[in-house]
Amino acid sequence: AYYRIAVDGFSSCGKSTLARQIAEVLGAVYIDSGAMYRAATLLAIQNNCIRDWHLDTGCFMPVIQRATIEFRTTDNHLLLNEKDVEKEIRSPEVADHVSEVASHGFIREIMVQMQRSYSEKSPVVMDGRDIGTHVFPDAEVKIFLTAEPRIRAERRYQELQEQSVNISFDEVFENVKKRDEKDQNRSVAPLRKADDAIEINNSYLSRSEQLEQALE
Ligand code: C5P
Repeated sequence: AYYRIAVDGFSSCGKSTLARQIAEVLGAVYIDSGAMYRAATLLAIQNNCIRDWHLDTGCFMPVIQRATIEFRTTDNHLLLNEKDVEKEIRSPEVADHVSEVASHGFIREIMVQMQRSYSEKSPVVMDGRDIGTHVFPDAEVKIFLTAEPRIRAERRYQELQEQSVNISFDEVFENVKKRDEKDQNRSVAPLRKADDAIEINNSYLSRSEQLEQALE
């Protein structure tokens, strides 16, 4: 069996940056579980299965069951039905709907099964919301990352500006707060810190400082 490292936390607090760095230092495979929920959301949008902000489960069930979601080994890009959708899954439209899609039990079951299967092939560092509590409850190391909401929104806004996405700071801040609320209050595998997770607040830490703390 291989070791598993869980990195959970709120939206836009730098989980993927940290998880990627840890994986690189340790020689493990990095897996972005959020990207998988984002891919499912993109698929739901493409198939018109979201109406009035709600997922039509009858519409989406056959679509998701036929879909393939994989990470390309060369660059870690997400492949949805064999197509590279790495850019599309980061759009504000997907961000607006992802927490709704991720709140459905049948979707989470499919994703969790895939996430567990990755850990059978190599050591993994996986970031998400329920990795330490649900996907790998007996993970060797669990990190719970936090940062002040405004700081998280500022970082996310900065990132979107760099990609020339047309969006205001207030819209980004709203989305971050809404997703946190929905992720914490859903009935299936809600976002929370695992009892045995180590909390790191990175509001005022640099990337190298947070990596240092995590490795320790
Ligand atoms: O990590 P990221 O912000 O890309 O995740 C997008 C969304 O996917 C989250 O807001 C959450 O609704 C969902 N998610 C989840 N469980 C995970 C990872 C992500 O519900 N393990």
